[in-house]
Amino acid sequence: MTTSLIELSYLLAGVTFIVALKWLSSPKTARTGNRIGAVGMFVAIIATLFHQGVLRFEYIIAGILIGAVIGTVAARKAPMTAMPQMVAVFNGVGGGASLLVAWAEYWVLAPGKHSLDVPISIAFTVFIGAITFSGSMMAYAKLQELVSGRPIVYRFQQPGNIALMVVCLLLGIYLVWQAPAGPAMIPFYVLMVLSLVLGVTFILPIGGADMPVLIALLNAFSGLAGAGAGFILHNHVLIVAGALVGSSGVLLTQIMCWAMNRPVSNVLFGTFGATVQVTGAAAGKTAQAIQADEAATLLAYAQRVVIVPGYGLAVSRAQNETRDLMKALEERGVEVKFAIHPVAGRMPGHMNVLLAEADIPYDKLVDMEVINPELERTDVAVVLGANDVVNPAARSDTGSPLYGMPIIDVDKAAHVIVIKRSLAPGFAGVDNDLFYMPKTRMFFADGRDALVKILQELKNV
Ligand code: NDP
Repeated sequence: MTTSLIELSYLLAGVTFIVALKWLSSPKTARTGNRIGAVGMFVAIIATLFHQGVLRFEYIIAGILIGAVIGTVAARKAPMTAMPQMVAVFNGVGGGASLLVAWAEYWVLAPGKHSLDVPISIAFTVFIGAITFSGSMMAYAKLQELVSGRPIVYRFQQPGNIALMVVCLLLGIYLVWQAPAGPAMIPFYVLMVLSLVLGVTFILPIGGADMPVLIALLNAFSGLAGAGAGFILHNHVLIVAGALVGSSGVLLTQIMCWAMNRPVSNVLFGTFGATVQVTGAAAGKTAQAIQADEAATLLAYAQRVVIVPGYGLAVSRAQNETRDLMKALEERGVEVKFAIHPVAGRMPGHMNVLLAEADIPYDKLVDMEVINPELERTDVAVVLGANDVVNPAARSDTGSPLYGMPIIDVDKAAHVIVIKRSLAPGFAGVDNDLFYMPKTRMFFADGRDALVKILQELKNV
């Protein structure tokens, strides 16, 4: 294949990546978008294999086979609740791959035979690639609860991180300055190790439940590292793909922070979730419990029901029972809608994916801004394993860490049924006054078990 044909294939691949991103933005077209992106990546890989720089194929083929097997098994086996972890690992290996490219290219850096952009790109890629790799592995360990999900803080943590960053910057400048004389491996390795350490120390103070935001940011980092590797190799498709991943990761981070009404700095340095505030049961308030038969009656005689899914839905894997409840109620003429908060669950679109998995039609999933005005006309709001996203303190309690976060106004419905196992707080660690309101009934059970019981009782109503 000629160089111009390879470049043309890269251009085609770049266009498919952009089209894929566009299609991925809607649940209806997301699968097709995914396939378009995969075809583009396939074209890019094939074109790269025709590059005259490729001398031996056996390692490449072995790498593709091993990677494909691991990727397929991991994607098939990982449960929906483990998606954030899986994305973390994929980001990490992306950053690690760019790091290895930079390492290999620095190793063979010919003295005086390259332009300045190559050592600059190498220093940048080693720094970002190493942070992405170790940071993502640490994020994985927190999400998988291999290490504590609570923020881990120690004295001089932030000054220590800033000092590490400054040393890395100085080492990077040194490598660029030294490059015309050829590779200087010892400072290179020091930069690599310190960047790996920084990846870990940067993640330690961030709470486990904030990891999805961080993973979006690390995703952006992996894109930047990929683009850096593209500049080292002068490979255009890598630059385009890296820039797209980098920019979409930054946008996603921003969107998640807006939805939680917290600046990125608060997520990164705020040690959110380090303390637990108690205002409810321990402060002498009591919540009223409800049993399956009463809940079934309340729902069966309602005209409008809004179901608000949250993280607990994912934990209890109750998506199929949720669909069955929707169908059973609709058969009785009850109008059922789902209220989707942008950060319900533990990753963007978590609830949409879960409910789509159970074949709940997309038009039943209503965004927060659209459903909120309808809640005043709703007979029963069913809060299913959600907590923070329905906490009224976000509207009124200026002292709450949730203050300012947009919420789903379930407290405006005529009746509220909250299905969760206890009065325990959600991710933010704050109690929820919704549980103690006169109109609220608590159904204390695992989400799935509760729905099975309600479905059973509905047959008798
Ligand atoms: P929360 O974490 O606030 O609450 C989930 C609730 O689910 C818990 O209170 C828990 O109560 C309950 N639960 C857990 N397991 C089960 C089960 N098996 N059956 C029934 N209930 C269960 O979740 P929300 O979805 O309301 O809020 C998401 C939070 O995560 C927000 O604070 C958001 O800002 C944050 N976040 C979201 C991100 C995203 O991208 N979506 C990213 C980062 C943070 P109990 O233990 O009593 O059962």
